[in-house]
Amino acid sequence: MREGSSPSTPTPGGVRHGGRPSPPTIRSVTDDQAAAAVAAERAAELAALDRARADLDDVDRALARLDAGTYGTCEVCAAALDDALLASAPAARLCAAHARPPAG
Ligand SMILES: [Zn+2]
Repeated sequence: MREGSSPSTPTPGGVRHGGRPSPPTIRSVTDDQAAAAVAAERAAELAALDRARADLDDVDRALARLDAGTYGTCEVCAAALDDALLASAPAARLCAAHARPPAG
């Protein structure tokens, strides 16, 4: 008879020597500040991306208007846009009168 062939005795663990003591985990305020800074930076980048997309959309529309032969005219009243306006804003679609928000 054989008995006690391989008794599963729990090996003592966690007895390591020479390891550095773990530093005390202090959640500093700077962690929160860094996270807030990253979030703000991300929000700013998303806003810039939105503006870039809007600009690209404007350029696409301007190219379409160029193809249609309506580039340089107001989309509302079809008046020719000012050269100075087109020079400063090539994708402009409205004349000065219609680009302005309605005064209250
Ligand atoms: Zn107009």
